[in-house]
This record gives sequence, structure tokens and C-alpha cells, in this order.
Amino acid sequence: MIDRGLRDRYSRQTMFPGIGDEGQAKLLKSSMVIIGCGALGSNIATLLVRAGVGKIRIIDRDFIEYHNLQRQVLFSEDDIRAQLPKAIAAERYLRKVNSSVEIQGIVADANYTNIEKFCESTDVILDGLDNLETRFLINDVSLKLKIPWVYGGAIASGGMTMTIIPGEPPCFRCAYPGSLNGWDTNAPTCETAGIVGTAAAVIGALQATEAIKIIVGAHEINRGLTIVDVWEGIHDHIEIKPRGDCPACRGNYESLEGGFAVRTTSFCGQSRAVQVIDTKVREIPLDKLKARLKNVSYVSQDEYMLRFIADDHEITVFPDGRAIVKNTVDESLAKQLYAKYVADLLY
Ligand SMILES: [Zn+2]
Repeated sequence: MIDRGLRDRYSRQTMFPGIGDEGQAKLLKSSMVIIGCGALGSNIATLLVRAGVGKIRIIDRDFIEYHNLQRQVLFSEDDIRAQLPKAIAAERYLRKVNSSVEIQGIVADANYTNIEKFCESTDVILDGLDNLETRFLINDVSLKLKIPWVYGGAIASGGMTMTIIPGEPPCFRCAYPGSLNGWDTNAPTCETAGIVGTAAAVIGALQATEAIKIIVGAHEINRGLTIVDVWEGIHDHIEIKPRGDCPACRGNYESLEGGFAVRTTSFCGQSRAVQVIDTKVREIPLDKLKARLKNVSYVSQDEYMLRFIADDHEITVFPDGRAIVKNTVDESLAKQLYAKYVADLLY
């Protein structure tokens, strides 16, 4: 069933009866997508690649900064010096860990225009995100495409995780009822509350375990909310009841329908930076934009991004249409700069 070299490689986990040779054969054929490759995504990715999944796709929109290295276990100082996006650095590192896994790093912001494409033909979706808005989107795409997903969140010394199986409520929206907007306005973030690296490692490990259990067909799936605090030494489990009025469970995928034109997001991992997405701009030809830009000073360009300084802000533009404006938290200013230096020049 499994070839001899691989049998030896995975022998310590196939000895465990919950996995066995049969479970390993299923893992080797499995395909997973990790959305967001920060602390949770890094831990999930390294564990799943080492466990021998067949294919893994990693979606992340960001670059690496020094304050990420404390907990984002896939990245090194060399990656920062090489100005690599997280998705690319993750792919390069993980290929060295396990060359038999098909690994694809994609530099992109997962949003309603592209998330179905990223999740198609995968067996499990893993959440490595830092915001509820995109988690509602994953919940919608999971239920629509009938792909299980594993929620995870970590902040300060704690975190939580929950596994969602389409067609078997509760879903994530059942656990977090209410409006899709305004969730995060007063919520603490990694920027304000900090994060202990070990908390993210524990939650990421629990998420990776759930993904393995789903693939091997284990019965012990974590269907409620598991809550962990590594400082207090707490491990708790809360049962979540399905809600009869849950729009997602009724097939009403509000997040996936989208509808915004220009969206901005302040970054959790970035100090003072705003990301701008204009859904009309699906692609930016970097060479063409560079030729049209005036009164800017160039910092760098490669196949992944064009970075320049304009009006005292460092602006990084990506081929998928996004821009990150540094040195501000003013979202309307970031939108104006995006219009002036990107959208108006191209369209
Ligand atoms: Zn629901």
C-alpha cells in the first residue's frame, strides 16, 4: 500500500493505531489548503508536511518582519534579508523538509473573489488567519463546496479551535451569530495584547491533528470549541449548539457574495500598515505600473512585488491587485494613495 522508503519515513506515526498504514495511505493522497501563514499557519504547515500529506497549498498576503520570527516557525533572518513573501519562504523551507509533498505557496489575499478557486479540490481547509471577516468567508466556502475546515485563533497566552463539517451543524456562524461587520472593532489583536509563541504552537498542533483525523476517518472529531491557555494551564471544551436561523447553514452565503468595492484592512502582524484591495483591479502588471509612476523613489522590484516611496509612505504593490501602505493606520489616506499611485494610472 505504501512504498518502502515512505513506510520507514512515517513508521513512528503508522505505529499509532489511530493512523496505521491505512491512515497513512489516505494522508499521502490528501490535499489541504492553509489560509494565512503566520504563527498558526507555520505550525500547521510544518506538522502536516512532516506527517506526509499529499498536497498542501499555502495562501498568504504578507512579508516577513523581525517580530514574526518569535513564533512563525517556518521563517528565518535570511528570508527577511531576501524580502521573500511568507508564502514563498514557506514553500522553499517545506520542500527541504519533505520533497515528496507537493507544496504550492501563493502570494494573495484570500477574499470573496478568489477563495473558491484556492479551496477547490482540497480535502480540508485550515484557518491560519487573524480576522473574523475572512473566517466567515472560509465558513461559507466550506459549506458551499462541502469541504471540512478547522478554525483556530490565538492571542496572548490562549487560543481556541473548532472543526466544522459541512452538512453537520454547528458551523462557525452558529458559534458566532450576529452581524458580519464590526466584529473586530474593539477586539484585542496581536498588536495590542501580544502573543506567546507556545500558545500559537499548541493551537496550530491541535488544528493539524484535526486535519489528520478528518483524512484518516477518525470518529473523535472536535465538534465544539476547545479553549486552551498555556499560561493558566487550562484546557476546556464548550459545546456549541446548531442555530436554526444560521444563514450559512441555510445555504445563504453572505460573506461569499461580497459586494464591497474598495476594502482596507489594518494588519495584525505589521506595525502601522494598511492593506488596500480594489476589487475592480484584479491584476497589476508591475512593469507597466512602474513605467507610469512619477515623483516616486523606487525601493525594489522583483517578480512578487514593486515597492516605492511616495508622499512619505512606503507602498508595496502586488501582481494580484493589492497594495500595502506603510507608516499609517489611516484607512482613507491609504485608499487615496492607492487610487493616486495604482488604480488611476492603470484604469
Ligand atoms: Zn451554522
